[in-house]
Amino acid sequence: MEPREKAFKIESEKIGFDLKHRQTIKHNIGKYFRSVEKGVNYFSDLDAAKNTASSIKDYVVNNLDHLLLKFEKNAKANNMEVLWAKTAEDVIKQVLAITERHKVKAVVKTKSMVSEELELNKILEENNIKSLETDLGEFIVQLAGERPYHILTPAMHKSKEDIAKLFSEKFGTAADASVEELTKYVRKLLREQFVQADMGITGANFLIADSGSIALTENEGNGLMTVSWPETQIVIAGFEKIIPELTDLDLFWPLLSVMGTGQKLTAYNSILSGPRADDENDGPTKVYVILFDGGRSNVFAEKDHNLALKCIRCGACLNYCPVYQNIGGFTYDTVYSGPIGSVLSMYLDGSEDTGHLNFASSLCGKCTDVCPVEIPLHKLLLLNRKKLVEQGNAGFIETKGYKYFAKYMGSRRKLEKIKSKWKNRAMKSFGKKAWGKRRAPLRFPKESFSKRYMNNRKDS
Ligand code: SF4
Repeated sequence: MEPREKAFKIESEKIGFDLKHRQTIKHNIGKYFRSVEKGVNYFSDLDAAKNTASSIKDYVVNNLDHLLLKFEKNAKANNMEVLWAKTAEDVIKQVLAITERHKVKAVVKTKSMVSEELELNKILEENNIKSLETDLGEFIVQLAGERPYHILTPAMHKSKEDIAKLFSEKFGTAADASVEELTKYVRKLLREQFVQADMGITGANFLIADSGSIALTENEGNGLMTVSWPETQIVIAGFEKIIPELTDLDLFWPLLSVMGTGQKLTAYNSILSGPRADDENDGPTKVYVILFDGGRSNVFAEKDHNLALKCIRCGACLNYCPVYQNIGGFTYDTVYSGPIGSVLSMYLDGSEDTGHLNFASSLCGKCTDVCPVEIPLHKLLLLNRKKLVEQGNAGFIETKGYKYFAKYMGSRRKLEKIKSKWKNRAMKSFGKKAWGKRRAPLRFPKESFSKRYMNNRKDS
């Protein structure tokens, strides 16, 4: 077993029985469920909305080359500089060259999973550039020295008591400070940083091909501040974030919002269409957009799997996944966790040994059911499993175990031919591990149920 797979199993076992973790996640996901339950009613026909969004994203996946070039042409016409990056190293080189060119000493960032793929904060700090997360959840995990726990709600694993304790340790605030007191403290601290920063770095919720602009959606106004204050701006986005037209936001913004948080629309929605004009007061004087591959073309090259590129990162599949609900985000040990993370990670840069995550699913199909762009996630998990088995990159159970299972379970005659003592021996040896130590031991009786039933019938 690969070291990462082994660690995943050990950590899953541990965290799955951590009651405090379970309570926090249950509480936070419970709030999300109640909110989404209400939110879906904002759509008169949610299925039709999902269907339309899915068709648009199908069109995007099938026309990526053409749409990306269209975006590039229009973004350049908007005076933005567009750069292409194949690997994380390419992006980092480009970012560091820009920081050098503009003599950047301090950066403010908005929440961006792509920057997590790059470990950008760490790289900037190593190059003596102060980098500060401005989304409250990201700020909390940065302060704690952690990576985001969830693609949309990075600090979902922390209770308000955990956060008060963390702030007290780092800033000396009261250990029992209220949520209002803590947010007020952060707001003041961030305001000062926004003013001092030389550069803003954001991701993109959507790259709009026909207008050559960037759509950002958020709840705290930090994104708007990040694109308003600093003189220089970098947008780093995975190339799959493209949508064809500005008017598509009419559908994608509410859909992302409802499935992401249950809100009709998030509080701040911004469209960045280039540097500030001569008659404008706010905004950067220079805007760079980096279109990042980072293994996405590996996904694109796989027929069927490329449907995973439709993802708009709403996080719904994570929240509804019974596996995620029990083992949480960190256990996956990947940037993207939950069902979409399991599907994507083995194709993304540096994640070759994450194939085992495709087997960490009950295949209940809830992820597919809730996905706003109708990605057949449970089928993609199965396709990945098939691929791994064909490559010989799966364990004994997947490569051989299921063949025996099908052979014997498919035939009562064959199954009953094996004496109970052999079945019990098999369970004691290799079956014990799969059965797990938390279940009551499995004992096969001497006679099968059907034999006993038939014998009882004869007797009566
Ligand atoms: S796969 Fe679907 S449900 Fe999961 S994060 Fe992406 S868009 Fe949301």
